[in-house]
Amino acid sequence: MVAKRDYYEILGISKQADEKQIKDAFRDLAMRYHPDRNKEPGAEERFKEIAEAYAILSDPDKKRQYDAHGFEGLSDFRPDDLFGGINFDEIFGDFGGPLFEHFFDRYRYQRRRGKDIEILVEVPLSKIMTGGSENINLKRKESCDLCHGSGAAAGSGPKTCDLCQGTGQTVASHTTHNMVFQQIRPCSKCHGKGSIIENPCSQCSGMGFINREKGIEVLIPPGVEDGTVLRIAKQGREGPIGNGGPGDLLVIIQTKKDPNFQRLGPDLFYSATIPVYDAVLGTKIQIPTLNDDVIVKVPSGTQAQTSLRVKGKGLPKSHSSGHGDLYVTIDIQIPEHLKSREKELFEELRAVNLDQSSSKTSWFARLRNNHTKAKSG
Ligand SMILES: [Zn+2]
Ligand SMILES: [Zn+2]
Repeated sequence: MVAKRDYYEILGISKQADEKQIKDAFRDLAMRYHPDRNKEPGAEERFKEIAEAYAILSDPDKKRQYDAHGFEGLSDFRPDDLFGGINFDEIFGDFGGPLFEHFFDRYRYQRRRGKDIEILVEVPLSKIMTGGSENINLKRKESCDLCHGSGAAAGSGPKTCDLCQGTGQTVASHTTHNMVFQQIRPCSKCHGKGSIIENPCSQCSGMGFINREKGIEVLIPPGVEDGTVLRIAKQGREGPIGNGGPGDLLVIIQTKKDPNFQRLGPDLFYSATIPVYDAVLGTKIQIPTLNDDVIVKVPSGTQAQTSLRVKGKGLPKSHSSGHGDLYVTIDIQIPEHLKSREKELFEELRAVNLDQSSSKTSWFARLRNNHTKAKSG
């Protein structure tokens, strides 16, 4: 194993360097070795080393520990803590802050964190319209805060199992026909863990974790699309003790089924049924939207399944300004039972049409006859 280099040496400063000198040294080196700018081999390793050195020396508490005890003095910090406190925006301004944050996210996420939790949240259209928040109840295992995940009551700790001497296994042997058979089994006393909690924690009964239900408020951006994943940091599963911390909560957005509207991106679809005479003669109909009702003009001669567009009455667009449209799809209702007067009128309508079409037919017939005559003659 390669010995770790001294943090002061890495930054090229003396142990007497003040806060500003530490920061200046870091800024210069970080700019030079940032992996997005420096493609030389080893630049990324060098950058991590520089950042680690700065993370320690810029934090008074960590610096004191390091000055007094060297690397040994930092062993109590969780790896995740080491990089937690750097404010990149403050050091680099608008110029490099986000770039560095991004790099450190990548770096942090390589550590063993707890698993992410995915949860599907159905959001009603009215909330997608305005934006807002949804409360979700998250059930998850949390490390027990009373015993810090050890499972043992305060002041005690897990004891090495005396039956298996901490191996977690027991070996049973028996002799048959002068042959010795060995069977390895998980230890019956410690259930294979190798240690026993004699004095279990009262809060978690020795499990080391507790099932907690937690209410979490999720902010819903206006116009959020189906399948959008909102990442809420550190609300996922707990990581291994002393490691990379909890995972994230991934909230997957789905539009809740609506009795009136169907959604496609920012556009809404509404189905309206009108009587056959309204489709023929034209009419005006009142249509609900997510805000208030609108009057939609149906032109005369409208065919079934025609879509009429109501501009700007859809959902907010998620990637640009403005709103989608509302499409009103027209269904035509054919009467099933006619009153005698209605029947009369429909009969009359048919008679008129028959007259027209028969005169048309005879006109075509005459034309065809003339044509045939002309040809033969
Ligand atoms: Zn045992
Ligand atoms: Zn506990």
